[in-house]
Amino acid sequence: MDLKAIEEYLELLKFSGINEMVVSNNNEASIFDYKGKSPLKKNHKLDINSLKAECLTCQKCKLSETRNKVVFGEGNPKSDLLIIGEAPGREEDLTGHVFVGKAGQLLTKMLKAINIKREDIYIANILKCRPPENRNPAPKEVENCLPFLEKQIEIIQPKAILLFGRVAAVNLLKIEQNLGAFRLKPFLFKNIPVFVTYHPSALLRNPSWKKNAWADLQFFQKYYESLR
Ligand code: SF4
Repeated sequence: MDLKAIEEYLELLKFSGINEMVVSNNNEASIFDYKGKSPLKKNHKLDINSLKAECLTCQKCKLSETRNKVVFGEGNPKSDLLIIGEAPGREEDLTGHVFVGKAGQLLTKMLKAINIKREDIYIANILKCRPPENRNPAPKEVENCLPFLEKQIEIIQPKAILLFGRVAAVNLLKIEQNLGAFRLKPFLFKNIPVFVTYHPSALLRNPSWKKNAWADLQFFQKYYESLR
């Protein structure tokens, strides 16, 4: 345990206006493993293209029978920021790209509002194939698919993760609670600070939530800009 690194990290959070830290009950996530620099050891046996090739032919769950295209994720694999959503929707399933259509346009605007260019970051989902009728991912589907995302995280080694929506938060952090309880506080996943806000699709359905989402984004921005 590196106490100095922990102290520096807590100071940084304090500087960012963050007074509370929640550690995921995922066994692999613990603030006491934080090393202060690179939260994860680089896995040299992995590269994003070979992982993508493996994922594109995956048939580990029944979603492979109903999908049109696997939506692996895309963006800058050297980014400090990884955004994670829930699962592909209809347009993503047809095109093979993440966050397209109106939700994608809103995501781009949300990022722009906090001075982040979409092309600079990496975006992925918990599930790589679309659940029929956009139903919530089944536990077995998440269990089968999550290793792809975990390997993406291992390769990208982001300094921050921003989760869009409760489903993404519950399935990555393994904490069962409502979205409100995830908001405006940082979590840790494999020692990477994780922040949670509304899914852009939810904001399109309920525009009155945009005010809260803006507060979440500003909270995240304060931390993210302190890394620079
Ligand atoms: S959802 Fe994931 S585990 Fe299931 S078939 Fe698609 S890539 Fe494989």
